Parts: sequence; structure tokens; C-alpha cells
Amino acid sequence: MKYKEFELILSSFKCNKNCPYCTAKITKWPAVDDKVDELENKLSYLKEKDISFRYFIFCGNGEPSLHSIDTIDKVVKATREVNIFDEKRFQSSGNIFFEKEKLDLIKDDFIVEITRVDFDSAKDMATLGYNQDYINSPLFIKANVRLNYVMMKNKSFDEYLSEIKKYIDTYPNIKTVSLKTLNLNTLNGKIDNPHSKWIIENALTKSDSQNVIEFMCKHADVVHQDNEFFDRIEWIYKGVPITFYIKKLSYGISNVVCYGGELVDYHLNKLDI
Ligand code: SF4
Repeated sequence: MKYKEFELILSSFKCNKNCPYCTAKITKWPAVDDKVDELENKLSYLKEKDISFRYFIFCGNGEPSLHSIDTIDKVVKATREVNIFDEKRFQSSGNIFFEKEKLDLIKDDFIVEITRVDFDSAKDMATLGYNQDYINSPLFIKANVRLNYVMMKNKSFDEYLSEIKKYIDTYPNIKTVSLKTLNLNTLNGKIDNPHSKWIIENALTKSDSQNVIEFMCKHADVVHQDNEFFDRIEWIYKGVPITFYIKKLSYGISNVVCYGGELVDYHLNKLDI
């Protein structure tokens, strides 16, 4: 059985950015002992059950590159030892592009995912609350990068496409682009916090999915349209794959999260697999 994502979520809650939509802050998961040493055993268990994944995603509650080199090394080695993934991704605030030793450790195995709201770094930094322009760091071009492009309400669909073209033309190491709507609250769905309110006022959400698909289909060729379990549609634009996750299913059904050494879903229920 192939699942969509295996997400390793650690619980440092440390980050050099202050995104107004921060998922870590919206969901307020409890701090836990990450038990990274157990990752390899968990992966072996899944392999024995004949379970594999499209993606391994090393992400936070917090910025993964702020973990020690020892922790990152353990994750890299575990996923090399039990490689049940088509692709591995490292979701970074951008801080990894100032951490040469850590970038060297991951760059041959992982695609680095960055998330931006504006091509103009000054605007991106002002909105997402950070002060080092990582996209123009000399280390940026050393990694294969996936751009999570957050669709903001203050731009039109035409502006999204022309901005994506600018990214692709300026940074040839951006290999894929993911169109992002933002999640309001994956833990309980409640709009009871300033981050969810910011999302509603400023960004597209799951309810805008059909408009995104209709616009993209007019401007780019569809190359993949997956079944509901993977809920992905992919176009080729200027030679670069642009992906959109439709999230028709209740969030997380095709994903496995490893949190505190346990295999859980997005509501932190232990998975029976
Ligand atoms: S980079 Fe991620 S963890 Fe850091 S503030 Fe932004 S959303 Fe939160």
C-alpha cells in the first residue's frame, strides 16, 4: 500500500520566522520527547507491513535546520537505511541556507521546500517576520528547491503566474512549484486564533480550490490528475511542474505523522497500522 506522506514533525517550536499563518502556533500541539532514535525502527515496521510513501517530509513544529547536526544526521541515516520513499523533502524557513554543514548533509537526499508570499524579499520578510534574505544567500543555488507559493488575496491569478515565471527564470534550482492554499486549523478546525483569522483575510483557502484549478487549466497543460487518495493535480508551466493539492479528503487521511516517536494522524490519534 502506498500512502502520500510520512511527516516527521519534531517539537522544538523554535523558528527564525514569525509567519502570521504559522501551523505550529495554530494547532498548539504539546511539546514531546522527539525520540528521533526510534525513527529507523518505525520505518522498518512500516516496510515489513509493505507500506511505502510518495514523500518523506522533515518538518516542524519549528524550523528543522535549528536542530543539532546530530539529530539531522540521524534522520538522514534512518531514511537512507529504510528508504520507503519516492522523494524526500526538507521543509525549511530558509535558515538551512545559512547552515552550510547541515545543508551539505541533506542536499543530495532531500529537496528543500521553501514557502513564500512574495517574490520581493523585502515584502516577503516583512509579511513573514524574518530578517535574513535566504533566497539570495550563496548557498541557495546549491540545493534542489520546491517553492510553496502562497496565493494571497491581494494579487490576481494573472499576477500569481507572472510571479511564478519570475521565480523560475531567476532561480533555475527551483525544480517544482506547489500552489498553496492555507489550512485554517488541522487539529480541530476552529477559527479561534489570530493566525486562522489572518488566513481568512489574506490568503486563499481550500474553498478556493475550484477557481485555482479552472485558472491553471486555461494556462498550462495538465500532466497528472491523481485519484482522491492522493488528491493532486499537476500542470507543466514553462517546463516546470506546478502542483496543487486539492484536499478533497478530510485533511491527513493519506498521511502518516511521526510525533514523539509515535505514528499518529493530524488529530494526534495513534494510527492502527
Ligand atoms: S517557518 Fe514554519 S514554523 Fe516558522 S513561523 Fe513560519 S510556519 Fe511557523
